[in-house]
Amino acid sequence: MSGKLFVVATPIGNLKDITFRAVETLKSVDYILAESPHHSKRLLETYAIKTKTVKYNDDYNVEKIIEKAVEDLKSGLNIALISDAGTPTISDPGYKIVHRCRQENIDVVPVPGANAAIAAVSVSGLPTDKFVFLGFLPKGKLKKEKMLKSYDGDATIVLYESPHRILKTLNAIKSALGRRYVVVAREITKIHEEFISGFVDEVEEIIANKSSIKGEFVVLIRKADV
Ligand code: SAM
Repeated sequence: MSGKLFVVATPIGNLKDITFRAVETLKSVDYILAESPHHSKRLLETYAIKTKTVKYNDDYNVEKIIEKAVEDLKSGLNIALISDAGTPTISDPGYKIVHRCRQENIDVVPVPGANAAIAAVSVSGLPTDKFVFLGFLPKGKLKKEKMLKSYDGDATIVLYESPHRILKTLNAIKSALGRRYVVVAREITKIHEEFISGFVDEVEEIIANKSSIKGEFVVLIRKADV
């Protein structure tokens, strides 16, 4: 009988944000496919998880690693997939191996937990009945604006952004959608956790006036008032 591929969510900052089941799964599988074994070392050590890790990335050597994993799963081994933070495959590597396992009728089991987008949505105070997740916007002002316009509608828009591009993204929101109300969540669950909300020009100014822009960001855009 085939083994199972467990897609295991890990913390997005605070190392305590991991489930009992995630720890148990990571301890019990035969090996862990990790986006970056070096990055995951601290988490695994914290929970005394001694399972071997193998590097997995959707781009790097992916076919070879998937073939080996599929072979191992078919021979009855269980494997866990983790990323550097949060839920694997959500703006993170992993979908290729999951797709391949589904083609091969190998069970893929979610072990749910932290996710930056959902954490930000939950505390945004914006309508949550409908939201669209766009992940990282493309590079380039025009491409950003085009994407924002095409997804603008009856739902809150949720984006991921890096510190290097946060101001460009806020600027693109302003150009594409006008003076929209936004919530910017920074460093969720970490020491410098911060939520900045207001009209996009106000939030842009607050962030632009910081002496340095650091951390990881989720940007939420309120739908247009009708
Ligand atoms: N798989 C992850 C998840 O489930 O949220 C997302 C991985 S994606 C490569 C990394 C991006 O997620 C960051 O650039 C940032 O936009 C967002 N992110 C991750 N951790 C975050 C945090 N603690 N606070 C704010 N945003 C975060």
